[in-house]
Amino acid sequence: MKYLEEFQNPDLARRLLDEIHATVTRPWALMEVCGGQTHSIIRHGIDQLLPEQIELIHGPGCPVCVTPLDVIDKALEIASRPDVIFCSFGDMLRVPGTGRDLFQVRSEGGDVRVVYSPLDALRIAQQNPDKQVVFFGIGFETTAPPNAMTVHQARKLGIRNFSLLVSHVRVPPAIEAIMSSADCRVQAFLAAGHVCSVMGIEEYPELAERFRVPIVVTGFEPLDILEGVRRAVRQLERGEHTVDNAYERAVRPEGNLAAKAMLADLFEVTDRAWRGIGMIPHSGWRLAEKYREFDAEHRFQVGEIATQEPAACRAGEVLQGLIKPHECEAFGTACTPRTPLGATMVSSEGACAAYYLYRRLGGTPTRPEQNQQTLEGTSVG
Ligand code: SF4
Repeated sequence: MKYLEEFQNPDLARRLLDEIHATVTRPWALMEVCGGQTHSIIRHGIDQLLPEQIELIHGPGCPVCVTPLDVIDKALEIASRPDVIFCSFGDMLRVPGTGRDLFQVRSEGGDVRVVYSPLDALRIAQQNPDKQVVFFGIGFETTAPPNAMTVHQARKLGIRNFSLLVSHVRVPPAIEAIMSSADCRVQAFLAAGHVCSVMGIEEYPELAERFRVPIVVTGFEPLDILEGVRRAVRQLERGEHTVDNAYERAVRPEGNLAAKAMLADLFEVTDRAWRGIGMIPHSGWRLAEKYREFDAEHRFQVGEIATQEPAACRAGEVLQGLIKPHECEAFGTACTPRTPLGATMVSSEGACAAYYLYRRLGGTPTRPEQNQQTLEGTSVG
């Protein structure tokens, strides 16, 4: 498959690994920002092929994981109403709120539907004029533009029974928060390539300069990640801290101007709480005042909700890279994908789910040759 198999080429992977091994002289801690990158790293055993001095710290870039508990609880309350059809991507249905999830709301009679696009939800609104149709709009700069466009379409088509429950988050303020933390160990970032394909890279040089941290825009296939690591380590070894675009096939410096214009029209920047992490200033988007009539929180007046996280869940520490998932006492026992205590065990981009799925159960590290799906197992290595 074009743009996939060539980025899993074993000979090229070996060459990149050789270069990384030859370059590194001391310990370095790199954070991959995106949960998609985390899954690729764990699935292919990339971290186990790197020199021992390089630690990959898993970052907070999992949209499902960071959606705050109070927003999940608001979704549960809205979805329980008899006049509502609540639409969401499938991975949100199993995210635990306070005491229940959207699946449970559905089993209790709520009309909760899985859709593959916000436009599907808009179509459902057109087909059900006597119902209120709500789409759960979560995620980073990648999912925000289509959600914005759907609200734009709703207004254009005069569809008034559609609204968006918004919990969008932005990556650069999260990087700033991570670097400002007293516990921070991160020395370089592999920035999320798909976010940069929308937003460009213009927000990053100031961060790289202020925190003296290399930021390498990185893709998701094994060779992308190895190339990101190679460039980050090269900068670290040289004492440099610049923004480097290693995902040029998808990322232009200015990003996607049409998508950014849509975001600027529909959304406004706001402070946003990240689940397990807390409030990060200017880290979210909400619908702009002129589109407030399409804001589900405004329409349904759900107000303040008392929330309660399971005491055993350490997802906040996982999301900040302070612990690895198997260091959580509940990992694989009280908390599994079937019985998740936290969103990081549910999401297809969650670090806990990656460790469980690819059998990183702690103890003696599994070497790549023992791993189910390693670089060798997927014809890379
Ligand atoms: S393993 Fe489960 S309980 Fe532990 S941090 Fe991950 S999601 Fe939370």
